[in-house]
Amino acid sequence: MTDKPLDEAQLAALKETLLRKRGEILAASTGTRPIPASMDVNSRQGDMADQASGNNEVHIQLKLKQTDAKILQAIEEALFRLEKGIYGVCRDCGDPIAAARLIAIPWTRVCITCKQKQSA
Ligand SMILES: [Zn+2]
Repeated sequence: MTDKPLDEAQLAALKETLLRKRGEILAASTGTRPIPASMDVNSRQGDMADQASGNNEVHIQLKLKQTDAKILQAIEEALFRLEKGIYGVCRDCGDPIAAARLIAIPWTRVCITCKQKQSA
């Protein structure tokens, strides 16, 4: 276990990861939505079961989009902190975030201690 700060190469790699992830989310959110061709027929027939399952799918899609939006915002903030040279500092306590945690979740805002406090 090392608490060494990230070096230039690691920071560059994390920035690439952040940019790639942002690109993925943006591509997914602007991509065409998978609408089944039979949808028109189903809604006209008004089958209750089909409608229920259809609603569930929409609900799941919305939930995914909300999560993506949150990650997207966190990525933007992380990229901003990278530009400012303050990347890897916990938003809540100001301590450096462990390198291993940043590598696992490059857009994280808080250190593991604060994260655990949040979810407790
Ligand atoms: Zn903290």
